[in-house]
Amino acid sequence: MHELGIVFHIIRSVEDVARQNNVRRVTAVTLELGEVSGVLEDYLQDCWNWAVSKSDLMRGARLQVAVIPAKTLCEDCGMVYPTVAHGRTCPGCGSGHTHLIQGNETMIRDITVPQEEEPEPTDSSAPGEP
Ligand SMILES: [Zn+2]
Repeated sequence: MHELGIVFHIIRSVEDVARQNNVRRVTAVTLELGEVSGVLEDYLQDCWNWAVSKSDLMRGARLQVAVIPAKTLCEDCGMVYPTVAHGRTCPGCGSGHTHLIQGNETMIRDITVPQEEEPEPTDSSAPGEP
């Protein structure tokens, strides 16, 4: 259960970048999430929605998740194979001498800001319930 920690880390990073760039609003953040990062996306979204509601800069910002497929490299035969299907055993040569080369990411890919600074909208229509 480290989703909340990840969310706080993302928000801190985004806030730092925004401050350095004089950005006052963030509308969306795209996160690269590795297939085997162990992060539950649903829970991450819940934590996100709660955490951004506490941030002036990021209130209402969406979290977009780009899933990075997990790949493992076999050090004995050099094969790169999908981790989820085969685990730690190389499907090419049966070796266990393998390591994950991608798929463990929790990394910010993109931060979306409004096209132009607009005044706060006056109609505060609540977002629709799911
Ligand atoms: Zn192999």
